[in-house]
Amino acid sequence: MRFVTYNTMPPGGVFFYQLGADYVSAPSRLQICAKVKALHLKHGVPCHPDPWEMIMDHMCQRLPSGYCTEPVENGVKMYTVADIKANTQKLFGKMVADPTSIRDRLSVCVGCKLNKRSLCPTCTGLLPWILSGSKRAKVSADDFVSVCAADAVFISALVSVEQEGKAPDTCSDNCWRRHG
Ligand code: SF4
Repeated sequence: MRFVTYNTMPPGGVFFYQLGADYVSAPSRLQICAKVKALHLKHGVPCHPDPWEMIMDHMCQRLPSGYCTEPVENGVKMYTVADIKANTQKLFGKMVADPTSIRDRLSVCVGCKLNKRSLCPTCTGLLPWILSGSKRAKVSADDFVSVCAADAVFISALVSVEQEGKAPDTCSDNCWRRHG
């Protein structure tokens, strides 16, 4: 499974990779390869002699059709910023949850396997947009959450509303939305 051409650029112009909960991204092949080597070293996990092979394999599980030479079966759907903004915007204007609940929820999301930065590699730097839309104070754990893979919504906004709606079946078993 490989990119269709040597010069294939992914959507948003960002190469990305994830090992465990650690996510890295970079705008160039050289930079992402260096980051992936360092990530494997940090985790004590052997790295392929050519990290680019691992990066392509990882990304091709997550990229839309057309970027890789082989269609991906059971690949992970990837979203655009526009998709996720549209889902998130539905939460704006709702009653704000109390700060303790927000922190408690974030602490669950931080360790959740469905907290996925790789779902939307271009979804970075959007916290100010969420904060202005959801009208709440920033809390530190925001930096460690990204998009919830259960329903493709920014976690920072999701945790902020008092009535977040019915938990999707795709939520993790320990999701605070199941036990709220
Ligand atoms: S499934 Fe629940 S706990 Fe996990 S990231 Fe989504 S909202 Fe957070």
